[in-house]
Amino acid sequence: MRARAAERLLPDTALIGLEGVAAARRRLTTRDAVRARHGRLARHQIPWLLQHSAWTAQRFAEADLPPERWWQLPPVGKREMMAHFDALNTVGVRLEEVLALAHEAEDTRDFTGTLTTAAGEVGVGLSTGTSGARGAFLVDREDRLRWAGTVLAALLRPFPWSLRTPQRVAFFLRADGTLYRTAASSRVQIDFHDILRPIEQLAAALTATDPTLVVGPPSVLRAVLEAGARARPEKVVSVAEVLEDGTRSVLEHGFEAPVVQIYQATEGMLGLPCAAGELHLAEEHVHVETEPLGGGLVRPVLTDLRRRAQPVIRHRLDDVLDLAPDCSCGSATRRIRRIIGRQDDALELPGPGGAQITIWPDFVRGALSDVPGLEEYRVLQTGPAMLRVETAPSSAPVRAEVRERIGRALRRQGVLWDLVTIDEHAWRPAPAGTKLRRVLRTGR
Ligand SMILES: [Zn+2]
Repeated sequence: MRARAAERLLPDTALIGLEGVAAARRRLTTRDAVRARHGRLARHQIPWLLQHSAWTAQRFAEADLPPERWWQLPPVGKREMMAHFDALNTVGVRLEEVLALAHEAEDTRDFTGTLTTAAGEVGVGLSTGTSGARGAFLVDREDRLRWAGTVLAALLRPFPWSLRTPQRVAFFLRADGTLYRTAASSRVQIDFHDILRPIEQLAAALTATDPTLVVGPPSVLRAVLEAGARARPEKVVSVAEVLEDGTRSVLEHGFEAPVVQIYQATEGMLGLPCAAGELHLAEEHVHVETEPLGGGLVRPVLTDLRRRAQPVIRHRLDDVLDLAPDCSCGSATRRIRRIIGRQDDALELPGPGGAQITIWPDFVRGALSDVPGLEEYRVLQTGPAMLRVETAPSSAPVRAEVRERIGRALRRQGVLWDLVTIDEHAWRPAPAGTKLRRVLRTGR
């Protein structure tokens, strides 16, 4: 679908915003500069939210904190966010309406839509989650323009020179998400490819549009390449799934282009690539405090200093990150060395003395990254000491090697491997349009 209608909606204002983001990023060369920027943004954001979001005001009152000490507010999680959804959002939307809209769209698996509110059209999204807790999110027009501007600023660099030649962006998404539809202007053409279409059609469409930038989930981009797509973009952008090293190199070779990542959660856009191709926390507009989880890993507590339809102030995320203090690009925003995975997905296996040993998804992915002949796999924990392992191919040697690698890696972490039952199956592709998650826990 070509985003013609969107030309009326976006651009020149967002391009101005975009220049602002790009300029802000260049100036954030010290942690003091990052802190000063957060302070400036918070002076506009927090008082506005206190006026317009009843639950935000209640949280400050309960903690007995003045607005300028927002960074000391006790963190909340997705469960509290959903429980207080109606009093949290600033556009008068009820969770009931969001869920009704989602229910309607369940057949098409398109979980995006819009609601008409006093504040204008509000985009609605629902995140799926195996752990039961679905997150709902709202994005108004301002939020959307800022999103588009921020993404384009990060991707179409060096700015603004690249915008002098028209850019053609190919987005591979589940349906035509409202979040993304507005990102088009006279200088940027965006083609949306619905990933529910047959993969051969997607491959042909990509070849025909010859984009300068390709954006999509890495598992989909890989499948499109393997179905014969030919394109020579300047850059490939991985979104929505963890980018594994193996897939990264397939994409780099197939497209003959560098691959960078955008890191987005229900709670907002958390990570954007830098000039050196590394992923950074998007500290131009979010404040991130980290809680240590051991082994150098952290869990972020996020504050979005610009988003308004659905405030995000001190929200504890489910994601586990490995952060690095610096990067060769010179930005003082923190670099994300690895996204380890969602805490909900981590395996919990028996250790000595009745202990539970936590195994992060990234650790299992690492153990299986170079098994000879292994093309696809999934590892699911389905019981307290039960792993379902799916492989493609499911030949005896591949299965034996996979079992051996998992066993060796888990024993090294202290798991009592003899107690673990392995249930082997042939790999089954995930249903079209769902995220590929190779390691997850579906039962305890
Ligand atoms: Zn960098």
